[in-house]
Amino acid sequence: MDGGGRSLGARALLSLISVGAMSRGDLGERLGLSPATTTRTVRPLIEAGLIEEQPPVEVGGPGRPTRLLAVAPNSATVAGIKLTADRLYAVLTDPLGEVLIDDSLPLIETDAESVTSLIASVVMRLAERSGRRPDAIGISLGAAVVGRRTVVVAAFLGWRDVPLAAMITEATGLPCAVANDVRAFAYAEAWFGAGRGKSPFALVTLGAGIGCGIVVGGEILSGAKGAAGSVGHLPVDPTGPSCEIGHPGCARALASTAGILRASAEHLGCAVEELSLERLLSPGMRRGSGVDDVLRRAALAAGRVVGTLIAYVDPELVVVSGEGIALVEAYRETFEKEVDGLRHWAAAPVPVLLRPFEFDEWARGAAALALEQWTVVAGDR
Ligand SMILES: [Zn+2]
Repeated sequence: MDGGGRSLGARALLSLISVGAMSRGDLGERLGLSPATTTRTVRPLIEAGLIEEQPPVEVGGPGRPTRLLAVAPNSATVAGIKLTADRLYAVLTDPLGEVLIDDSLPLIETDAESVTSLIASVVMRLAERSGRRPDAIGISLGAAVVGRRTVVVAAFLGWRDVPLAAMITEATGLPCAVANDVRAFAYAEAWFGAGRGKSPFALVTLGAGIGCGIVVGGEILSGAKGAAGSVGHLPVDPTGPSCEIGHPGCARALASTAGILRASAEHLGCAVEELSLERLLSPGMRRGSGVDDVLRRAALAAGRVVGTLIAYVDPELVVVSGEGIALVEAYRETFEKEVDGLRHWAAAPVPVLLRPFEFDEWARGAAALALEQWTVVAGDR
């Protein structure tokens, strides 16, 4: 979190993006400002067309009708880029998180220079096609990132200590922010999805990896070295199979897509390549030798990750997403029993929402990062 270093204007914009439209009074209270300072902060932003006053709302009772402040949908355009090992996904969105245009391209050269120039050309092409020039770029990838700027390690690209944000800014002239993909996704879900207004809010993703993002008061918890939420290798069941780096029965070994496919292939005596999660979840396959056990154990591992997270954070809401939610849907009872079994006897149950997953969400998460970056520049007027 770096909320302390932001200007008042940036904080006002970020609040209106992450919480939605609100009255001057509510905004001032949220930012801890007097009515006079709130007015002084907001006025230049209204004059610049970044914030607009919505038509008056009758609140009932005595007093003037309230006019809510909101970020103007046309005030900014941001680009969000999600990098995978072999593909790049890109979107342009407005400040309300609405996707204006999208694209995806194969990632052939994966060195940092080639990826930088590919991102620059994709962003330029989207700008031409949409007629909207982006104000900032956000990039998300399955990696630890420090200070929204430097990719510490991205094993799938062979990167170490890559100053990606600076490279993109040099190539495009635009401000850029980089973050771990799950953290960025959590942002988008907290600002534009089911997590809006919930604090703390937690997102758990199940798929190629297992990760989580925690958002407190509209701000994501990144951790000191960018690794907060790296729960994938936590031990779940020491009698389980090992992950690719040798942990017996870690969450990733049991509940990642690759882990599930590997264990199922062993039971079925076939090649991993012949299987998919979707195929394994079909009723015919689930009756097959050992597949049901593998899937049930995976759902239990997912439940243990979510239940443990709840015990530490006590969030208002947990959203579970990623391609692995099909597994949780199919074994909902196993999953829920595990989550509930980890609940402290005096703690109230926390709602867990399964969110259908579309791959675009990753890029939209990256766009949320770009929006955060935009508020820093735009709010400084
Ligand atoms: Zn592991």
